[in-house]
Parts: sequence; C-alpha cells; structure tokens
Amino acid sequence: MDTQDTSERLPPWLQAPWQALVQRGRARRLPTGLLVHGAGGVGKGLLARSLVQTLLCQQAKGADPPCGVCNACRGFLGGVHPEVMSLEPEEAGKEILIAAARDAIEFLGLSGSGELRCVLIQPADALNTNAANALLKTLEEPPAGAMLILIADQPARLPATIRSRCEMVEIPTPDAGEAGAWLRRFASAPEAADEAYAAALGRPLLAREILVDPQRMEQWQQDREALTTLLRAPGVTPMASVMQRSLPESLIPRLQALLLAAQRLLVTEQADAFGRQFPRDLLEAFARRHGPRRLAELSSRAHVWQRQAARQLNPQLRLEDIALSLLGRNS
Ligand SMILES: [Zn+2]
Repeated sequence: MDTQDTSERLPPWLQAPWQALVQRGRARRLPTGLLVHGAGGVGKGLLARSLVQTLLCQQAKGADPPCGVCNACRGFLGGVHPEVMSLEPEEAGKEILIAAARDAIEFLGLSGSGELRCVLIQPADALNTNAANALLKTLEEPPAGAMLILIADQPARLPATIRSRCEMVEIPTPDAGEAGAWLRRFASAPEAADEAYAAALGRPLLAREILVDPQRMEQWQQDREALTTLLRAPGVTPMASVMQRSLPESLIPRLQALLLAAQRLLVTEQADAFGRQFPRDLLEAFARRHGPRRLAELSSRAHVWQRQAARQLNPQLRLEDIALSLLGRNS
C-alpha cells in the first residue's frame, strides 16, 4: 500500500498518466469505472488518490497539483472527505466481502453536495465474486457523479464482467535508471538508494518506504540477516531461529530473489542487484553447492510458499519446513 502524501510531487513516471486523467476529469470525460493496474509498488494507489484529491481540491486549476491545505484537501488527506470512500479488505490478504460492496453502492447513491462521489477499491483483486457482482449494476447504471476506481496488481483475477465495464489505465514500471534517480532524493547516499531498490525487489514506492521508514529498514536488515545465515548453511536449528524473526510475507519474496540471484550467478558469473546485497563468496559457494537443478526446484517451492504466506497459513511451522527444505534434508 502506498502511503506517500498525495500533495507531494508525483514520481516522474506517474506524471503523464496523472495529467491525462486530470484533464479528462476537469472536462467531465472520465468513465464511471477506472481500473488502474500495473506492477506492485509502482504507485497505482498514489496516482488514484492524487487524481481524486486534485479533482476535489478547491484551489487547483488546470494541471495544478492539489493544494494540500484547502478544506477538501485536508478532509481527503485526513480520510474524512464526505465524497470519498475507501474499500479495502478488513485484514491484509483477506477478501473484500459483499457487505462492504453494498456499503459502497449505498454511499455512491446518496446525493452529495458535489459533482464527484468516489469509491477507491484497493486491492480490487481482493473483491470476492459476490462483491464484484454487486458492483456491476452501479458500473452499468451509475448514479450522477459516481466514480469507482479499482486498483489492482493482477487485473486478470477480476471477473471479466467487471473488467469490460471499466476503462483500463496501465501504470508503467519505470526502469532502474528512472526509479533510481527518483529514489536518490530520499537517500543519504546513492548506494543507500540502490540497496533499498534491491531490497524492494524493484518496486520504487516500497523502496522509498524502506528509505524513510525505520521499521521497514529494520525488516529488510532482519531478512538480509536470515538470508545470509541461509547462505552460510549453519544447520536447521540456527537457521529456523533466525528466520522466526522475519515475517514470511516479507522474507519469502526476498528468498525467491536470492535463489534467482544464485541461478543467475551460475549462468552469467555476475551477481545481480539483489545478489550484490550479500557477500559474493557466500552467494557463490551457495550457488555451487546446490547447482542449477536444485536451485530451480527450490525456486518453484518458494513460489508455493509465497502463495501460502499470502494466505497466512501457520507461519511458524512453515518457516521450519522451509529451513529444512533449503538445507536439503527434506527433498
Ligand atoms: Zn486543495
């Protein structure tokens, strides 16, 4: 989830989509349903919220960014703007249920003061089938001024009936150069920006959070320690105990990146951006010890673990299983 203040200047790769949407919004030419999609951590939520705030702002005209200080902006930023509702799962990883979708439909049907009444749904791919179906009628016969912005990493997981009733807005993933130049504004040194970008697995908004949020930085350092322990292969018990201090949903994607880095190292003799966050000799010894076939097999297992982590199944037991698998005693 992006938490960047929407009154700040947007990252460069969001500027063009933002301008196009604001222009159409001002001309009242936006459709009722917008489906904003693109890779995770690229700024979809930030773009959507900035669009809504800009259209509600009492000061901004033309292509101005929202002022951040008018009543509308303050209400929006405080999460209490009367014309805006956010629809999210009650807990991360859970579904958005039909009761919540019905609340949103009712909210859009209330006659508000303004010309725009907006529901932001993030992540929209968390809508369950009933909730998605409930929204269909609103998309087909919207109340005046109603706007639904659906934000999704994986729009293909939404029912085709929803997708076909929304305009798709794809947010491009910036290349490493563009993302890195932007991140350096928040970093004490260029290397810190590169490290955060690697730690965020190429997701620039998450990388920025790692740079500015000590808790995120601590989580990364903890994960790196766990993965470095894995490279050293000291045995199951020490490894499981260091892994227990990490969160599976954060550690497992980074484990996947490490396995990929080891595979690449065997092929290219080069460490990739993620691999460079670890001592080269340890990564190389780990890669050679396991070999390409075993690394590929572990990667596909890690893929399964990641799906399980997303559903939050018994995290303690699984980390032990993972430690056993990685050390080759459970293959
Ligand atoms: Zn304003």
